[in-house]
Amino acid sequence: MDKNRKHQIGLPKGRQTDKESVDEICELIPGLSRDRQYLIEHLHVIQDKFNQLPVRLLAALAKEMNLSQSEVYEVATFYHHFNVVKEDEAARPPLTVRVCNGVGCEMGGSGKLFNELSNDKNSSFEVVHAPCVGACHRAPVCVVGKNQLGFAKASTVLEAVAENRRDGPEPSFQKLSEYIENGGYATLKKMLRGELNRRMVLEELERSQLRGMGGAGFPVFRKWQFLEGTSSPRAVVVNADEGEPGTFKDRHCFETEPHKVLEGALIAANVVEAEDVYIYLRDEYAQVRQLLIAEIDELRKTPLTHGVSIHLRRRAGAYICGEESALLESIEGKRGLPRNRPPYPAQKGVFGRPTLINNVETLYWVSEILQNGANWYLEAGRPRYYSVSGRVKNPGAVMAPSGSTAFQLIEEYCGGMTEGHSFKAYLPGGASGGILPASMSDIPLDFGSLERYGCFVGSAAVVIFSDQDSVPDVTANLLKFFSNESCGQCTPCRLGCEKMISLLSANELNEELIEELSSVMRDASICGLGQAAPNPVETGIKHFREEYL
Ligand code: SF4
Repeated sequence: MDKNRKHQIGLPKGRQTDKESVDEICELIPGLSRDRQYLIEHLHVIQDKFNQLPVRLLAALAKEMNLSQSEVYEVATFYHHFNVVKEDEAARPPLTVRVCNGVGCEMGGSGKLFNELSNDKNSSFEVVHAPCVGACHRAPVCVVGKNQLGFAKASTVLEAVAENRRDGPEPSFQKLSEYIENGGYATLKKMLRGELNRRMVLEELERSQLRGMGGAGFPVFRKWQFLEGTSSPRAVVVNADEGEPGTFKDRHCFETEPHKVLEGALIAANVVEAEDVYIYLRDEYAQVRQLLIAEIDELRKTPLTHGVSIHLRRRAGAYICGEESALLESIEGKRGLPRNRPPYPAQKGVFGRPTLINNVETLYWVSEILQNGANWYLEAGRPRYYSVSGRVKNPGAVMAPSGSTAFQLIEEYCGGMTEGHSFKAYLPGGASGGILPASMSDIPLDFGSLERYGCFVGSAAVVIFSDQDSVPDVTANLLKFFSNESCGQCTPCRLGCEKMISLLSANELNEELIEELSSVMRDASICGLGQAAPNPVETGIKHFREEYL
């Protein structure tokens, strides 16, 4: 027998773990649960410390968590914010600078910024492109570590790197004591005292006509009712993973009035009789995470959380995890692959429990409506937040009645167009909601009012373009985003996005093939990403055909 072969007999196959690495992992996550659901949280701990995930530590983590190495590896390589480095690869620099290449930032000059930073010979950091970081009103945006720099210039970014400013400033928000002083948590207290029951809450929400603000616009009271008669234990999930390019209104809710959202979540938990509330927060919102950790700690000291545990989960940069079933997988510590339905989350959601999933802004309005009444909400025109960005003077999250038009948002809420720009086109509902010309700026931006134009309002991310912007460039940007963010699970989406990009960059516009590809993607993709990805292309060609020829 071959000498080496003889030597190998009895040794386990594959990558071996070494004692030092296992000890290192134990030091990094001392006393923390080894349950599978915490895999992503533990990967964050390693990534934060080393700005990368060395495979020897992944192997040690797998051993410590009693998982196979392939399970840990597939999760680590699924999320954008984890950088796996193999033994034979060079270590990465200790700091990553992410330059947002979302559509708003690209208009704001992020391409030039990326080149300037890439040309800097400083090897203490690496520069990478990042999909939309949820701060489009401050475009172009650059993230140094966890420090989001708005209106970024190469000089300010390099300054932050040199001064090691890796954390952004804490937002100024309403703390627990201030919220309570202003009448906050009164509804929840009434529920806990038995003065307000679940039937009364559901009736008020039905009267208010409140719909989900995450994109689908499903009536809230009905979604809550789906959990009636389901088995216990149940769970509530707060979808704080807004990743639609152009959307930043959930961030605004958390950065200003976090307890309004937390109260809404606790009310929901009491109505559907859930024991646990999971808040799934996008990793880009590092300062929101810090304030939530502190405020939830304060809240736990009060009787308000009676019978309900709040868990804050940190996502790791994957747009698809905003899709509710992918989000559930991610909370369980897995890759964010959308599930086939049925069963629906209300039947079998997180950890197999009946689960209610609501968006951040939805829960914000639940608190407002139950405090002020459905009549107040209706008389105010069913207000909502629109994230307005692009070529307007004062971009931001603006509160306006549902059904406001793009023209009203620009003129009445955002101070008009940016100097020297004239209004040409807009996205009524983020990357997937299609594109419309300025001549159609009088359409109410509401659920159900845009579908006849091949568009939808979604999460109300309104991006304004001017005569200085090219519609084919905008659609190419959006398709690249979808292509990068496709989870790859189904062929029409995975290959369809890529094929669409190549069709858009061809010398001649092949409308017939684009139409055919769009219909395959729409009909055969598993989830909304692949189904909606052709929207900006189809509406772009419909309204700005001459620009594509
Ligand atoms: Fe994944 Fe795209 Fe299929 Fe959705 S449509 S499951 S993102 S491949």
